[in-house]
Amino acid sequence: MKKIYKTAMYLRLSKGDEKDGESGSITNQRDFLMAFINARDDLELTSEYADDGYGGYDFDRPQFLQMLSDVNNKKIDCIVVKDLSRLGRNHLKVEEFAQLKFPKLGVRFIAVGNDMDTGREKTFNEMLASPIINLANEWYVSETSVKIRRSQEIRRKSGDFVGNFAVYGYVKNGKKLEIDEEVKDIIKQIFAYKIEGKSNKSIAEILNKREILCPMEYKLSKGIHTATHLKIHEKALWSSNIVKRILENPVYTGTLIQGKTTTKNYRDKQRFVREKSDWAITENAHEAIISDFIFDLVGDLLGLDTYSKDSNSCYLFSHFLYCGNCGKVLYRRAEKSNIYYVCKNKECENKRNISENTVKIAVEKVLKSHLKSVSKTAEPTENFIDTNNSPDVQKLEQEIAQIRETQETLRAENKRGIISNAEFLELNNFYENKITKAQFQINEVKKSRLKIQKCYKQILEKYNEYVLFENLTRAILVTFVEKIIAQNSKSINIFFRYADLFGGDKSGS
Ligand SMILES: [Zn+2]
Repeated sequence: MKKIYKTAMYLRLSKGDEKDGESGSITNQRDFLMAFINARDDLELTSEYADDGYGGYDFDRPQFLQMLSDVNNKKIDCIVVKDLSRLGRNHLKVEEFAQLKFPKLGVRFIAVGNDMDTGREKTFNEMLASPIINLANEWYVSETSVKIRRSQEIRRKSGDFVGNFAVYGYVKNGKKLEIDEEVKDIIKQIFAYKIEGKSNKSIAEILNKREILCPMEYKLSKGIHTATHLKIHEKALWSSNIVKRILENPVYTGTLIQGKTTTKNYRDKQRFVREKSDWAITENAHEAIISDFIFDLVGDLLGLDTYSKDSNSCYLFSHFLYCGNCGKVLYRRAEKSNIYYVCKNKECENKRNISENTVKIAVEKVLKSHLKSVSKTAEPTENFIDTNNSPDVQKLEQEIAQIRETQETLRAENKRGIISNAEFLELNNFYENKITKAQFQINEVKKSRLKIQKCYKQILEKYNEYVLFENLTRAILVTFVEKIIAQNSKSINIFFRYADLFGGDKSGS
């Protein structure tokens, strides 16, 4: 009687294969193998294993491992693949399975496209061809991997978005990111919550309560599946980490940072972080959702440890009020309806209770007059922009002019035979390099000047927005005040965040 094999079909598709249309989709592979198995009277299909989205170099594929375990448990004794590359692209590993491990386990292995079948006597050509085919499969991976890496590098440097998936808040449109209007306001809201004094955890809780889909679930709802989704079965929720990642991501200011991590090569898939100088950073790569001003402000707030264990929001003056005696942060204390700030430094002699309300009234008064005086300023003071930029452009331009004169003198001396051609070329080269360097510095100065001008307008807008504020809130405080130093309830110094920018008094009391 003829042996009937309990046959499994194994399907695999990687992202690279998908792009090339090289081995057909999973469905195509399945149809192809079904037709093959149905046409044979010694094969009976018992199971199917499909690894979708796994590269040929990775042998830790979940379904592949499941198949090996089922082989061990004698559930199957024949494996059919469309061609050897579906099993894998590391030729030594493929050889190992096809010619050593499978026969040892008593498993028949068929690679239809390569006309390979370990269940039948090998022809001389087959024995010869198999390693060569496997070598060719491996070469394909290394070659395409190098090609892809090179072209990604070039595209990254030109500010094109090369990732597969756009970050939450944006959608991919060709090579550029575009704002995802559906979730744009959620991102703005997250930044606003942070400025109001909410912790990352409480922001996550609010979003979950409002039943707003977290980035991963949102992606899924749009039909986008990534490898990480496969591992998660329960509905994912917002977490403080997700909120933190959004608050720290400069992508929302229009800056694209790519190539932060990389793999060593196609064999070693472990990712490592590159040197910052190797990152591809493109400013204004796409439209911003968050202004530089807000992003920088939130960046400063993220650095503060302002949350007590029992509270998800920080208090009005948390981490902004300092002891006038020792300089340490003052702590809040509530006694009945009275709220005080006190110095907890044991070595400090300042044992006074400083009433929250007194500080609040003082800050309100001084801040109101500060906002009024600044909001009258229509344009950035030229003085500020000049004095805060060094090295000075004029100085550099003078230097360039001097170098050019020197070059002219050298040229004349060379003509009159005072210096040789070789000497002239060497010196001329030396001065050309100097000019290049000076021009680079001029560009840097101009760039930073532009950035300050851009931010200046955003800051001024904020001043105008809040100029008639009534009640001091945490958001207003962190936007305009850098810190408050209190000696006692009567001696309070207020330092403004943008005092350098607007000149005038740095503090009031
Ligand atoms: Zn103190």
